[in-house]
Amino acid sequence: MRYSIWSLINQALTGNKGWKPAWREPELKNHYDIVIIGGGGHGLATAFYLASRYGMSNIAVLEKGWIGSGNIGRNTTIIRSNYLLDGNEPFYEESLKLWEGLEQDLNYNAMISQRGIINLYHSDSQRDAYVRRGNAMRLHGADAKLLKQEQLRKMCPFLDFENARFPIMGGLLQARAGTARHDAVAWGYARAADQRGVDIIQNCEVTDFIIKDGVCIGVKTSRGTITAGKVGVAVAGSTSKVMAKAGLRLPIESHVLQAFVSEGLKPIIPGVITFGAGHFYISQSDKGGLVFGGNIDGYNSYAQRGNLPVFEDVCQGGMAIMPMIGRARVLRNWGGIMDMSMDGSPIIDKTPIEQLFLNAGWCYGGFKATPASGLCFAHLLALGEPHNVAKKLRLDRFKRGAMLDERGAGAQPNLH
Ligand SMILES: Cc1cc2nc3c(=O)[nH]c(=O)nc-3n(C[C@H](O)[C@H](O)[C@H](O)COP(=O)(O)OP(=O)(O)OC[C@H]3O[C@@H](n4cnc5c(N)ncnc54)[C@H](O)[C@@H]3O)c2cc1C
Repeated sequence: MRYSIWSLINQALTGNKGWKPAWREPELKNHYDIVIIGGGGHGLATAFYLASRYGMSNIAVLEKGWIGSGNIGRNTTIIRSNYLLDGNEPFYEESLKLWEGLEQDLNYNAMISQRGIINLYHSDSQRDAYVRRGNAMRLHGADAKLLKQEQLRKMCPFLDFENARFPIMGGLLQARAGTARHDAVAWGYARAADQRGVDIIQNCEVTDFIIKDGVCIGVKTSRGTITAGKVGVAVAGSTSKVMAKAGLRLPIESHVLQAFVSEGLKPIIPGVITFGAGHFYISQSDKGGLVFGGNIDGYNSYAQRGNLPVFEDVCQGGMAIMPMIGRARVLRNWGGIMDMSMDGSPIIDKTPIEQLFLNAGWCYGGFKATPASGLCFAHLLALGEPHNVAKKLRLDRFKRGAMLDERGAGAQPNLH
């Protein structure tokens, strides 16, 4: 069924009896041309683009839990392309362009809202750094605008401009950035991939790889063995654990990142705002909850829950720029496991094992990367060579010393 105003009216008038499950529950086959491990945003997007752009459909996405149970359903929903470096900016700008047409591509309402992001600056040197970043963005065709304090005061009168320690001098605005409903993105990709013949297999954990003479020829799973022409791994926070089964040790650490949501409040925050002197970012959901977060927890973990000291640190960041949030009550918080690469940038590449491909290292920013990551991983899997905008996201950059270090945002919390 195609979702539209007409299907909605039709169902409303006929007792809503015609809605079908959004994707099938297919039987697992013995062989697929491509097996993708991980039914998060990146795995599902890869399957969708393999089917829609590269004409492949004998594909399985194997998910150990359920669709949306990982970070794709746990993030703070921010999408943007305000990067500085050559290796990153074209990739994230490609992603933002894909976001702009995604709901039409998927025929799914993912509540994409381009309400803008403002990175606050608190000193002259930080302003200069943002001027440089804004120029780099514009050179790559992205939008960026430097806001002076007077302009920002009109947009966000609630900010604490006169804070003695971190006075707010202005901000870097990317108006095309914004938010999207995170789990709807997973559901939209799942439904659209399924419609194109992709098998989405939930409750199916990959327990091992089958490797013969240096070539990956399949996987062992909790539901049986599958042979495959190619295997793509997109398991985000579980990357080190899964790739260890293939004997590979990666420059990736897993850390918890927490998210927090307040009680519903009247609309106050116009878009996404980030603190420039600490790690704190905030937006407001359509239901009115303030959605905010900050640093990763400073120790390695595979637990999907965080600790109170980081919660306190995040709230301190919030109080520094908008003391009014001290009055709001936090209703819920949760954690997700982040695959932190050592330079804070992702990896989309072949591995030393033939026919085994890797998509990982998403750190804080994998949600906004979902469309471009899926497209570039699909490109690599289908054609065996990197997509134009992912040419620098190679695994061997750590060996060559060609790091893509945006701002020391890798796995070391003290460098953020
Ligand atoms: C609190 C928080 C806030 C965030 N905020 C933002 C943000 O605002 N903007 C942004 O851009 N990014 C954000 N991120 C990062 C972003 O969510 C992730 O980088 C991104 O979702 C990771 O890719 P994914 O969706 O494919 O991961 P996931 O959804 O985690 O998918 C990986 C899947 O692999 C499955 N899996 C693992 N092992 C196996 C196995 N052996 N067999 C089969 N399946 C397996 C897991 O069950 C999981 O479903 C945030 C993350 C968190 C935790």
